[in-house]
Amino acid sequence: MKIFIDPGHGGTDPGASANGLQEKNITLQIALKLRDILQKEYEGHTIQMSRTTDQTISLIERTNLANNWLADYLISIHINAGGGTGFESYTYNGNYKGKEQTNRLRRTLHNQIVKQTDFYNRGKKEANFHMVRESAMPAVLTENGFIDRNEDAQLLKQDSFLEKIARGHALGLAEAFNLPKKSASNNTATYYRVVAGSFKERKFVDERVNRLKEKGFQSFIDIFKKGGSTYYRVVVGSFKERENADKQVALLKKEGFDAFIDVVKH
Ligand SMILES: [Zn+2]
Repeated sequence: MKIFIDPGHGGTDPGASANGLQEKNITLQIALKLRDILQKEYEGHTIQMSRTTDQTISLIERTNLANNWLADYLISIHINAGGGTGFESYTYNGNYKGKEQTNRLRRTLHNQIVKQTDFYNRGKKEANFHMVRESAMPAVLTENGFIDRNEDAQLLKQDSFLEKIARGHALGLAEAFNLPKKSASNNTATYYRVVAGSFKERKFVDERVNRLKEKGFQSFIDIFKKGGSTYYRVVVGSFKERENADKQVALLKKEGFDAFIDVVKH
């Protein structure tokens, strides 16, 4: 599915400003964090953003981008102003096809954002905003705290709090659209390292490296710390396939070297 993320304002339009903060900067930070969480932790989606830098883009351009890309969902991120505190979300207040679905998806997002942020819940609202009206797909506009309210502004100054807002959006999207979590095996690669010697003294390491070289084995030294001691390991190859590591061990043993396999995940 295609998710269109729209960080509100940008460039010559700062949005609301107060307490040393500008709305355009906060919305961009949240949007980038949201993108990163979705890309790192979930699959089954592609993402497009209306902007990834401090750029001026009109409202029409934003909805045109989303509509032309045939996005499945649009999420427009804003910070509130005008006296108040907490979180509220908006969908279009007109009559349109798919309104029920739009509000169902919004409910999931809204509840997750409130849950993750502990924001005061101002409710699920409807309005005649361009971003939710002119988008051809279900859309939500989120108002994440009040920039002109000191308590909210203090939170919005914390990177860890923006992370919570982003995570709320991500969890809401994942739940609403059943996005599968990336499995751990997709995130980490396993390598089989062949170790031909582990020493506490550096001089033995160099001896071993030279002897290996004489027999045609290229090696590198890995410094390994365990229980307060430092060990020098002579590594003769790192393999993605266990089988190839086994072959290397066999070759080394044939030449009289003791070798073992170290499984490394990263
Ligand atoms: Zn705004």
